[in-house]
Amino acid sequence: MERKLASIQRVESITAIAGADKIVKARVMGWDVVVKKDELAADAACVFFEIDAVLPDGAAWAEFMRPRGFRLRTVRLRGVLSQGLALPTSILPEGAPTELGADVTSLLGVTKYEPILPDTREIAGPFPTRVPKTDEIRLQSALGVLDEIRGQDFVITTKLDGTSLTFFRESERELVVCSRNWALREGDGSREWRIARALDLGTKLPVGVALQGELCGPGIQKNPLGLAALQFFAFSGYHTIEGRYLIHDELFALCAELGVTTVPVEHRVEGEAARTFEHTLERYLELARGRYPGTTSHKEGIVVRPLRETRSDTLSGRLSFKVISNEFLLAEKD
Ligand code: ATP
Ligand code: MN
Repeated sequence: MERKLASIQRVESITAIAGADKIVKARVMGWDVVVKKDELAADAACVFFEIDAVLPDGAAWAEFMRPRGFRLRTVRLRGVLSQGLALPTSILPEGAPTELGADVTSLLGVTKYEPILPDTREIAGPFPTRVPKTDEIRLQSALGVLDEIRGQDFVITTKLDGTSLTFFRESERELVVCSRNWALREGDGSREWRIARALDLGTKLPVGVALQGELCGPGIQKNPLGLAALQFFAFSGYHTIEGRYLIHDELFALCAELGVTTVPVEHRVEGEAARTFEHTLERYLELARGRYPGTTSHKEGIVVRPLRETRSDTLSGRLSFKVISNEFLLAEKD
């Protein structure tokens, strides 16, 4: 599911904020957002903007965000966590869609905040079309996944804050090494290719299989894990010939065989414990909190998946979602 940075949503509820008379707290999807009092009522439709949305420069309704560079981020207002922005649908131009869920991102000229990372990697070509790109939806934007995972055996892994890396053995002779969106050129300067060689993936990775993970370490983000050297942590395997993801245990067995590290498993919940597990946003936000072991860095969050691959109607794809730590979001400096 593509992330909708601005969409038509319903205000689930409105709650007063102690000591504040001009603002109230609204609940929209799984998000808490501070809004102007009397501007929105419970059950009303609103235009909801997610965190990381950049509002257009020039629209009257966006003017108040000019001092903050028009970028929406996680903030605390009067002690209340506020994530995103909810405005009345009256800001929409005439003829705009008004049905719940309608995506009005481009209509309103909203773009996505992307940190500009110095990227000197050399591109060899496009990302292989037979391999899905790595991505995870935020739980708060897709609460329906909670009903879909309820009762199933599942696994929670640590979300590592590095950079996405995909290895794909297209044929006996051809290994493809990709960043989030591109195939990378082989060379001594390429840290991704160095990892591929060190792991001997050009001969060991089964043909037709893509191995996807996070590359972490010095020089990547702020190396929040505090690693001394680059390390690859696998989190997905995709079988391009069969057109399916490897199930969790298959992936971990393959990695053990290849000598490839996997992302840390925080909880593996099965049987009776899975049947009775309370899948709520509150519980997941709690599980997302914490620090990377042995560091003072806030953990970015967690990724939750069923042990057996499951199709999600909510996501129109693989059932899998992320929960980002609010402490991590509040501490973000860039
Ligand atoms: P958004 O879609 O929320 O705007 P984004 O597309 O930049 O943000 P990320 O927040 O980077 O997405 O989250 C998805 C990425 O998380 C995946 O592409 C993957 O590289 C990375 N990741 C890190 N740890 C894991 C893990 N344990 N399981 C799955 N993916 C992980
Ligand atoms: Mn994404």
